[in-house]
Amino acid sequence: MSDAMAPEELARLDAAHVLHPHATVGHPARPLVIARGRGARVWDAEGKEYIDGTGGLWLNAVGHGREELARAAAEQMRQLEYYSSFGDLANEPSIRLAARLAQLAPAHMNTVYFTNGGSEGNETAIKLVRLAQHHAGKPERTTILSRRDAYHGSSGTSMAASGLDRLKQGFGPAAPGFIHLSAPRARTRSETDALVEEVERIIEETGAEHIAAFIGEPVQGVGGVVTPPEGYWEGVQAVLRRHGVLFIVDEVITAYGRTGYWFASQRYGLDADVIVTAKALTSGYVPMGAVLISDRLRHMLDGAEFRHGFTFNGHPVGAAVALENLRIMEQEHLVQRAEEMGAWLLAELRQLEAAGHVVEVRGVGMMLAIELSCDPTPAVQAAREAGVLVRGYPPCIIICPPLVLEQAQAERLVQVLREQLLALR
Ligand code: PMP
Repeated sequence: MSDAMAPEELARLDAAHVLHPHATVGHPARPLVIARGRGARVWDAEGKEYIDGTGGLWLNAVGHGREELARAAAEQMRQLEYYSSFGDLANEPSIRLAARLAQLAPAHMNTVYFTNGGSEGNETAIKLVRLAQHHAGKPERTTILSRRDAYHGSSGTSMAASGLDRLKQGFGPAAPGFIHLSAPRARTRSETDALVEEVERIIEETGAEHIAAFIGEPVQGVGGVVTPPEGYWEGVQAVLRRHGVLFIVDEVITAYGRTGYWFASQRYGLDADVIVTAKALTSGYVPMGAVLISDRLRHMLDGAEFRHGFTFNGHPVGAAVALENLRIMEQEHLVQRAEEMGAWLLAELRQLEAAGHVVEVRGVGMMLAIELSCDPTPAVQAAREAGVLVRGYPPCIIICPPLVLEQAQAERLVQVLREQLLALR
């Protein structure tokens, strides 16, 4: 780009004018300005190349710099850039996208509500289940069961639903109406049984007549890629069904291929009332999310006034990009690739369990974590200097690359992480 700003000038303006998410106010770090991308690689403003080990922020499926997506966006902008979707207003790309999602999703998920992202999706899901209970004549059923270490978003209700206390500090009272159960960590069958029994016990203590729904990520992401123990979801779902508690599945990271299935609900046999998605729906080219609603919940809601909407609901450009993104994923067999490449990465990274400071390597599909017994920041920083971008969520290093990651890039990623983890000794 001939008119690109000099890196020094960018750093100065960034420090002066930008408040970054998840950063210390008034103490800006020198920014890593990402300037362009191709496939699973990105380049910074100084021209240094990196392997993108985090898919931007847990989301890229089809890779960076895809001409097809730029074209889909431009064509839609020329035709119709935006119009409201409220009430009886509609646009063709979002209608087509809703129908496509109903095809890909578990059989009984046939209704779609569009959003701009994951937090809005969870806000929407929580309002939907409470409204459904209200409309079904059970207005006292408002409490939401969630879990510790869960991440459901940064807005009021989605933050309250999250189970990471450090993200709530200093923001005043969180929205009421949430109970947090244990994170799904278990090593033995009896520990798994105890987690399921806890769900039953809390429902009985609270009174099922006060509980609207349970919300959970199929695999906890931000909490450290916590994969569910064998039998956990089966047991939890049986308890929820027995007590008439609805089930919100937060698939903001896992939907659209990440775990080797279009939806992790399919991988784990989850019978959701709502599936919340965002991130990989567009591979990040345009902010857009989709909340999928089961036939059962739609039936409960039949006739209810749904007084809820965001200006950018059903954005035609987002929908056009999402349709093209899903088409590429299908054409390039990226869901299958997530399974195969993910299995390779997991096997290779597991060998690092022999390295000092590595407690455990875990993951499913192309969503993996290396849990350390020390602060991951120095290893993450050193990997960056060596040309590999991964994220540190203490005590874990998170690996979540674009699904188009090539074999040679995967080998380089593993090699750099191995070197940096061995250097921690
Ligand atoms: N749910 C989950 C499981 C997430 O991982 C995230 C974001 N990382 C969100 C919700 C919130 O999504 P957003 O940042 O798009 O609002």
